[in-house]
Amino acid sequence: MVALAEIPRHPTHAVAVGDVVIGGGAPVVVQSMTDTDTADVAATVAQIQELHAAGSEIVRVTVNDREAARAVPRIRERLLARGVRVPLVGDFHYNGHRLLAEVSDLAPALDKLRINPGNVGFGEHRDRRFEAVIEIAVRHRRPVRIGVNWGSLDQALAARLMDENARRPDPRPAEAVLREALVRSALDSARMAERIGLPPDRIVLSAKVSRVPDLLAVYRELAARSSYALHLGLTEAGMGTKGVVASTAALSLLLQEGIGDTIRVSLTPRPGEARTTEVRVCREVLQALGLRRFAPEVSACPGCGRTTSAFFRELAGEIEAWLEARMPEWRRRYPGVESLRVAVMGCIVNGPGESKHADIGISLPGTGEDPAAPVFVDGRKVATLRGGGIAEEFQRMVESYVRERFGAREAAE
Ligand code: SF4
Repeated sequence: MVALAEIPRHPTHAVAVGDVVIGGGAPVVVQSMTDTDTADVAATVAQIQELHAAGSEIVRVTVNDREAARAVPRIRERLLARGVRVPLVGDFHYNGHRLLAEVSDLAPALDKLRINPGNVGFGEHRDRRFEAVIEIAVRHRRPVRIGVNWGSLDQALAARLMDENARRPDPRPAEAVLREALVRSALDSARMAERIGLPPDRIVLSAKVSRVPDLLAVYRELAARSSYALHLGLTEAGMGTKGVVASTAALSLLLQEGIGDTIRVSLTPRPGEARTTEVRVCREVLQALGLRRFAPEVSACPGCGRTTSAFFRELAGEIEAWLEARMPEWRRRYPGVESLRVAVMGCIVNGPGESKHADIGISLPGTGEDPAAPVFVDGRKVATLRGGGIAEEFQRMVESYVRERFGAREAAE
């Protein structure tokens, strides 16, 4: 069994969101957000189900108007009727105080509220509206994420800090002052929420920016100056590889420092791309860092001039897809199967060595090598496969390895 990485975690309060716990040393939680019109109950329910099935442990929906607010309790009911118990978060901007007050069954249908102090209003409205949302959360015993954002920074606070900075004998760069404004806005709002009656174990903080170095600086400050549970995510990460790489870089560096209790990857899906990509990236980041285990790990070599035929690539892809397809059943029948490590290697150079390090591995013949594929189980060579049915034969061997190694509980039942 591969041990999870022992990264000392920044101590935070444990916040219960439905049946899921964020912070307090609990495993880092994966979350996502829908992009359907929340008022479209059928489409939103379908997407929540899809995100949850892909591994999202919490799903957020926007609650932007009265139709959306009225739809939320129906979405909740429909999910429960289908046996889906994923915690739901309502995302509020500008009018959250009004929607929560007017639609009486909205707050009870949600497991957490998210508000952005920079978007609740201006001047005297700001504090009154913020207070109204927090009071509703207190009354319904719901946690709140106070999520500040670079794009909607509290302008009054930013202007005040800029003025103070200008009067200093050694003014700091404007970017550092804006980062401080973001941190201050999150912390001041959290403390205001506590004064209104929201306990610290019902507060989650986030301070999202779109550049990796800014995100690192901001979250290090938040962690150093508070014990609130932290939601990590790079905002407006973008599309495709760029979004995945920027998010992965930012999240990994912070998680490796023990900072972050829940993560979301804000990817813009390409036309036709599934919304679930963001969930997949979160899970792969956590698994790659050794913080969580969701699926067997497949080590496949990249291939090179020694694997000139398409056979190696096809076989590696086939085995990976087969493992993914087997997982729902394996997860039910074989507890702990997530820790399985499989190697699919392209030739004799690193194939046997890497296969020996995996639980079960196959080393395929490279160009010009003897057309034989040795299979290693727990470091020992147990068979040599030949001929056209290598993939099926190897899959049978993996299936029987999984049954023997992880099937103890099934046999006991
Ligand atoms: S194991 Fe062989 S085929 Fe794979 S990258 Fe290394 S040398 Fe190339």
